[in-house]
Amino acid sequence: PAVVRGLSRRFGDRTVLDGLDLDIEPGQFVALLGPSGCGKSTLLRILADLDQEVTGEVEVAQRRAVAFQAPRLMPWKRVWHNVVLGLPGRPDKQRAVAALEEVGLGHRVDVWPKVLSGGEAQRTSLARALVREPDLLLLDEPFSALDALTRLKAQQLVGELWKRHGCAILLVTHDVEEALLLADRVLVMDEGRIGYDRVLDLPRPREVGDPEFVSLRAELLARLGVG
Ligand code: ATP
Ligand code: MG
Repeated sequence: PAVVRGLSRRFGDRTVLDGLDLDIEPGQFVALLGPSGCGKSTLLRILADLDQEVTGEVEVAQRRAVAFQAPRLMPWKRVWHNVVLGLPGRPDKQRAVAALEEVGLGHRVDVWPKVLSGGEAQRTSLARALVREPDLLLLDEPFSALDALTRLKAQQLVGELWKRHGCAILLVTHDVEEALLLADRVLVMDEGRIGYDRVLDLPRPREVGDPEFVSLRAELLARLGVG
């Protein structure tokens, strides 16, 4: 669902992406780590076709969907309507309801976005992405604004949805454990390129205390310059 070759992006005289190469396989769950400001969101926006001011080759699946850090919901449309907003044809409430039920929000269909909690808004944004049946789902720190328990549940939910839908996922995160719990493959961005690329052969469900998990975590933290 994504092939990137020699991708560069500059902002003024600052080169943020510098000849980046990346292939994402169908159905693959990829986590992307890297220090703040290294260009993760820039890459995601390019893959989402929200930024075309680039050089290099980018080929991305037609069916792709994005869920950002702060879900952007239209305050004057009910939750269900937000889910199917922008899809061709008349707003299909049944389809929206099915997607909302899938993320555990069957009881929030008819409310206004402003009454949703942070976690609920985040799940609405996931439903909105899933209803598009993407081949590639792009997630930019979708859990970072959630409290610890809600985050855990949302992570589990994404893991289940991924299994069920079989789409490829590119998840940008700061959280090494989250990456190791969810992904098939972990990338670290470094100086505008993918500096580390590792396919995980950890069995699922993942165990935080598993020796292989622990050693991968240490390796990644070292790579990120922590610890
Ligand atoms: P974080 O982990 O903090 O979200 P990030 O890896 O997602 O960081 P980006 O948002 O991709 O980082 O930004 C990378 C660099 O590009 C930053 O230095 C940022 O200031 C710069 N940048 C991003 N978008 C723009 C823009 N529209 N105009 C100018 N500079 C930008
Ligand atoms: Mg970012």
